[in-house]
Amino acid sequence: MPLPLAARSLRRADVAERDWLDWRWQLRNMLTSADELGAVLELAPEERAGLAASAHLFRVGITPYYASLMDPAHPSCPVRMQAIPAAREGAIRDEELRDPLGEDSHNPAPCVVHKYPDRCLFLVVDRCAIYCRHCNRRRLVGGDDPPTTPEIEAGLAYIARTPRIRDVLISGGDPLLLSTAKLDHLLGRLRAIPHVEIIRIGTRIPVVCPMRVDDELCAALRKHHPLYVNTHFNHPKELTPESRAACARLVDAGIPVGNQAVLLRGVNSSVRTLRALMRELLKARVKPYYLFQGDTVIGTDHLRTPVDAAIELYGKLRGWMTGMGVPHLVIDAPGGGGKLPIVPSYIEELGDEVVKVRTYRGAIVDYPQPRERDCTVPYDDVYFAGVPEDDDREGSAEALEPADA
Ligand SMILES: *Cc1c(COP(=O)(O)O)cnc(C)c1O
Repeated sequence: MPLPLAARSLRRADVAERDWLDWRWQLRNMLTSADELGAVLELAPEERAGLAASAHLFRVGITPYYASLMDPAHPSCPVRMQAIPAAREGAIRDEELRDPLGEDSHNPAPCVVHKYPDRCLFLVVDRCAIYCRHCNRRRLVGGDDPPTTPEIEAGLAYIARTPRIRDVLISGGDPLLLSTAKLDHLLGRLRAIPHVEIIRIGTRIPVVCPMRVDDELCAALRKHHPLYVNTHFNHPKELTPESRAACARLVDAGIPVGNQAVLLRGVNSSVRTLRALMRELLKARVKPYYLFQGDTVIGTDHLRTPVDAAIELYGKLRGWMTGMGVPHLVIDAPGGGGKLPIVPSYIEELGDEVVKVRTYRGAIVDYPQPRERDCTVPYDDVYFAGVPEDDDREGSAEALEPADA
């Protein structure tokens, strides 16, 4: 039986160190209500109203660790804004969608989203250690409909019979909420499929429950190389000693760690914040990979940044800081067209003889084109002798064809 709310404080100072460092304790004690949050900070009226409305919007859940990063004095705290619903979540526009990325129409097998030719998502769990207010999969996540074992088996069977899938992204929900034994088993099953070249895990665990990244987990993960982890830091404030240590344990296990941030209005939509975020990530040996323009998902309009502002922000990263720290700024096309880069134009004029390029400081410079234009690689015929061309059909094309075709 949980203690009555009033008697339970989830403030770090009041919790035994052994409990605090236990990831299962963190998950068992997630803060989910205005009463619990009100016990650790002063809620603003906008937050109180958002929490009251959240029951019919999208579930609330915050680990005590992540809540401990909240600035109790400022509702504009980036951690609060990502975790505590605002009343504006309920101001839904017609343009906002349940499934903005058309995932439900690229779903050739249970748990599988196959859009691109050679890679797919594998959604194996419906729970998270934080329910981000900008979540684009809120239709699937945090509900009472977790993927079943037969569904996961059917997903594995699809991947096994689709040889053009080279790259499986395990996501959810948060895959690192599976027990280590289950995750190990699942990774082993994927590794047993000969055409699966790399496996990626998408997880926010290093950010919101870094104690989950323990030696046992790292020992299990490192058996399944080449394995990549992409995590989701949105603000430099999230790079605490604990979260840095979690990233270090992953990297030390030989796992390249990338970051997929979401550009969130008023949370990280400033040049200073983005530069600091990217620099702190590099210091933690995490490579900034994507910076997403917000998807048009229900209840998130107030967190989206205008595209023109996003492009301007990007222009203040490229060249001004190391390219290692500059992620791809992308829109994931509504309807399922996939991710596309949005960049300021660095080409002023594209001629056959000269290209006029724009430097990061705005100067226009001539780049002379080469004399020869034939780009054939003669050695391709030798190196790829007998190798079939890539199968570039859109993902899930197999599912649209009769089984005996
Ligand atoms: C993002 C995404 C991927 C992976 O894209 P990359 O550009 O390879 O990181 C794959 N499938 C789906 C459906 C996606 O949304």
